[in-house]
Amino acid sequence: MSKNKLGHPRYQELIDLHRAISLLSLDEISSVLISRLPSVFAIDYFTLFLYDKDKRKLNLMCHNHPEIESFFSISLSSSPIMEAAILRGQYIREQNFSTSSYYRGADNPLFKKGYFVSIPLMIEKEIVGVLNINDVDQDPFDVSDLDFILNLSEFIALSISNAVLYEQTKNLAVTDGLTGISNRQDMEKSLLSEFERSTRYNSPLSVILLDVDNFKDVNDTYGHQKGDEILIAVAFLLKKFCRSNDIAARYGGEEFLMILPQSDAQGAFNIAERVREEMMNMSFTGKESNFSVTASCGIAELNKESMKNTEQLVAVADQALYKAKKSGRNKTIVGPVENKK
Ligand code: GH3
Ligand code: MG
Ligand code: MG
Repeated sequence: MSKNKLGHPRYQELIDLHRAISLLSLDEISSVLISRLPSVFAIDYFTLFLYDKDKRKLNLMCHNHPEIESFFSISLSSSPIMEAAILRGQYIREQNFSTSSYYRGADNPLFKKGYFVSIPLMIEKEIVGVLNINDVDQDPFDVSDLDFILNLSEFIALSISNAVLYEQTKNLAVTDGLTGISNRQDMEKSLLSEFERSTRYNSPLSVILLDVDNFKDVNDTYGHQKGDEILIAVAFLLKKFCRSNDIAARYGGEEFLMILPQSDAQGAFNIAERVREEMMNMSFTGKESNFSVTASCGIAELNKESMKNTEQLVAVADQALYKAKKSGRNKTIVGPVENKK
């Protein structure tokens, strides 16, 4: 007689787990699965990988293996069983994994001996991930047990797909399409909340407004695509200089804004100068020879008495930037500068 470890009533479990993972984020889905999947499935171990179709990679989302400490990605080709499950769009079951043709030695803590099922998680024909279940016993399930697990996998696929879609949509709304850093709308929201926090707690807040020098000429000489490549490089550089609470955003065109909570003007100046120097040293491939680009920066520090809103803070940085441009470019000027009205 086959061991039926799952028992009844199963449909209640199915409905309960489905409810528990609907409308959650990926992190929340992970924690529900970690706490409930092994007992609901009556299995020793499970791993769930998200599938990145473009990169052909599997990213570990959650698992209950005590030996695995960190999360990692593997290429599709390095896991023959998951690769086969994805390519066939069908689960693969091995009674004794260590004697199967998919086994690649004992080094990998995920792939143990015993019963092993690799289930592709699919929405329509789209693969969102792979769920692996593993039990040290061989043949622990009868047909209806496996059926139950496959049914539940469909719910898991649906919840994951919803969560991924939701996160992608949320990200699209706040990031700049070209550079991947915050867009202007998101920047304005962040700046307002930092402005309010600094005003309330009397803590420093500075901004750097950076504008690429003679960018129109760069586009005209090397083409718009090269120009785009430069903007991506600038964004990357700004990100590199961001501390944990700093924000780099594309302000528009070839202008960027860095928000530096807890920085005074001197601190912001130092960062702007490092960015400016690194930019000078970056080299881009041109038609005949390599070339470099420069940028100018304007700095403003929040002054509670004279600045009543974020626009006034950015305006001071903008005037300083204007002065940097007027006085030769490739430099950083700290505002406020004298008014020449
Ligand atoms: P300045 O040193 O005074 O800032 O001169 P500039 O040429 O950089 O300034 P200007 O405002 O005259 O030109 C900005 C150029 O930036 C013009 C525009 O075509 C280009 N630009 C804006 N957005 C993008 C983009 O997304 N990609 C590319 N390649 N170029 C862009
Ligand atoms: Mg500009
Ligand atoms: Mg410019």
